[in-house]
Amino acid sequence: MANSNVHHHHHQQQQQQQQQLHFLLIPLMSQSHIIPLTDFAKLLALRGLNVTIITTPLNAIRYKPIIDRAKNLNLKIQLAALEFPNREVGLPECCENMDSLASLEQGHNFLEANEMMKEPLEKLLQELVPRPSCIVSTNALVWTNEVARKFKIPRYVFHTISSFTIVCTLKISENKMHESLTSDTDSFLVPDMPHEIEFKRSELPEWLREKSDDKKHIMNMIKDTEHLARGVLVNSCEEMEPGYFEEYKKQRSRVWAIGPTSLCNTKNSDKFDRGNKSCIDEYQCLKWLDSMKPCSVIYACFGSLSHIPSPQLIQFGLGLEASNKPFIWIIRKNDHSAETETWLEVNKFEERLKGRGLIIRGWAPQVLILSHPSVGGFFTHCGWNSTVEGVCAGVPMITLPLFGEQIFNETFVVDVLKIGVRIGLMSEQLVKSERVKDAIKELIDGEKAVERRERARELGELVKKAVEEGGSSHSNITMFIQDVMHATNPS
Ligand code: UDP
Repeated sequence: MANSNVHHHHHQQQQQQQQQLHFLLIPLMSQSHIIPLTDFAKLLALRGLNVTIITTPLNAIRYKPIIDRAKNLNLKIQLAALEFPNREVGLPECCENMDSLASLEQGHNFLEANEMMKEPLEKLLQELVPRPSCIVSTNALVWTNEVARKFKIPRYVFHTISSFTIVCTLKISENKMHESLTSDTDSFLVPDMPHEIEFKRSELPEWLREKSDDKKHIMNMIKDTEHLARGVLVNSCEEMEPGYFEEYKKQRSRVWAIGPTSLCNTKNSDKFDRGNKSCIDEYQCLKWLDSMKPCSVIYACFGSLSHIPSPQLIQFGLGLEASNKPFIWIIRKNDHSAETETWLEVNKFEERLKGRGLIIRGWAPQVLILSHPSVGGFFTHCGWNSTVEGVCAGVPMITLPLFGEQIFNETFVVDVLKIGVRIGLMSEQLVKSERVKDAIKELIDGEKAVERRERARELGELVKKAVEEGGSSHSNITMFIQDVMHATNPS
């Protein structure tokens, strides 16, 4: 009895201590960082913790509805907007998010602007009550380490890439196999991997391929950040990447798989409103999906950063049409051009495909669409968030990586999880409509389609269990919180 009293008292004390913790979350101002970090904020706040998310005025407008809904549930979550110094680095005033960059080459300036938020952030840190107990910031924000050190609080990296990608990157950069290849199109095996993983040098992201110091800089920056930080959170779960977390943990002691974070959105209204105001009405979207047969619809979307030229978009459109399957096709605002629009009009594309093809020009409610039973395939660029959201929905994928680490995600989906049909890295050559049509055919009706779909569905179930109470990710969040408590209260 006495023992259980002591235990109870200890538990209460721990809970009280926990409730005083204040988590300061800092994303890179890009959808693929802000969206999962905001979901993570909700997960922390649902455990009664205080959370502040750093944002900028224009991003605050986009994210306010989400935060307001959380506040209505009495969650202790708030946005703190700092000015974004876009003009100082030569970016237009309206650009506070990477999705509004005119080209990805400006990414450099964008990172610079992020870094200039350091001083205003330090000022804010002095004012915040309760005093922040830790900083959780996404990969690439190396400078937040210095802020954390200055305020004597721990910093944790929130990874927006997979542990598969991290392990691949480390192995390739250590072994340098690709550097001894004679041709860019030769393939090589990544050494010491749980699976047989092969790449061509031409497929590798710039930071691994180029020998120049400037490109290597990104790589070193990623490594440094990791070694300076106290621990690492990955938006994934152990069951989803078996073998790779074990491998990653050989390099780092504090690695926690805490996702998929998108699963915290259980209500339709939460799934609908993520990252941006959707360019379609929720009811209209659901009504359209409801009218389709189960597992029949192809959802085609290429993330928030794509720059797909009009001739390529047209090939996608023609491929979707030729597949004879129902589809939802997202044309991102920045990719939407007069050229594409004229083509759509002249060919009466939408009129012709009325009742079968739905085009959304702008932001789509991706998670809401993916989790609808009518969706049978996800034609994706393999951004990590999209990949994880596809897995959560239990939907097989057609993979077409556009740039950067997306090639790793394609390999992961096709060769490790075996739930995808590969198109391969987008190059200067157009991906022809025929290719798209064939991939859709293979995904929906191919020889391995049933098996693939079943595997995707099972995987979806598995990751959902990970975030439930008692599941691996749920427990990992608990361990992470305890680590923060321990770091701030090392008695
Ligand atoms: N997304 C969305 N609607 C869109 C486009 C993207 O909701 O029309 C979301 C998507 O669900 C994901 C994020 O934006 O959470 C994109 O992140 P990802 O890592 O897939 O790709 P990136 O945008 O970085 O290329």
